[in-house]
Amino acid sequence: MKKNKDCLINSKGSSKYLECSVCKVREVKVGIESIRVVCWKCCLKNVDPPVVRSIVKSDRPKGWQLMKEFVDKNGDVYHKGKLVPELCGKVPLTDVEKIKSVHKKNKKNRDEKKEKKLVNIYNKKKKKNKKGKKVDKK
Ligand SMILES: [Zn+2]
Repeated sequence: MKKNKDCLINSKGSSKYLECSVCKVREVKVGIESIRVVCWKCCLKNVDPPVVRSIVKSDRPKGWQLMKEFVDKNGDVYHKGKLVPELCGKVPLTDVEKIKSVHKKNKKNRDEKKEKKLVNIYNKKKKKNKKGKKVDKK
């Protein structure tokens, strides 16, 4: 085993610091037995950037698989998420916009309820704290 002393910077116990063999700028902590090292930046230069996959959103409403009957824009009929080929093209399309608007309304109501609940909890805690302080003063 040949030891490359040119890039050795510092050694302590079971590890040492070596200079990157490509850019010769960065120090990398390595085990004592290592001879050469390549820093993270030089490694990144050799690797292609990660492929970013965009998520394709479907035009179907949430929970369409749970609906008793759902007809998509192509006329395909689904009963509880399962395609029923016999009925394809014979049943009127499901009004997706209406379903989405109902979902939006429900979400708004849910958020308002949640906020009210949190406000109530906050007010109760505030009252409790005030009572507790009065007891301490006596
Ligand atoms: Zn480097």
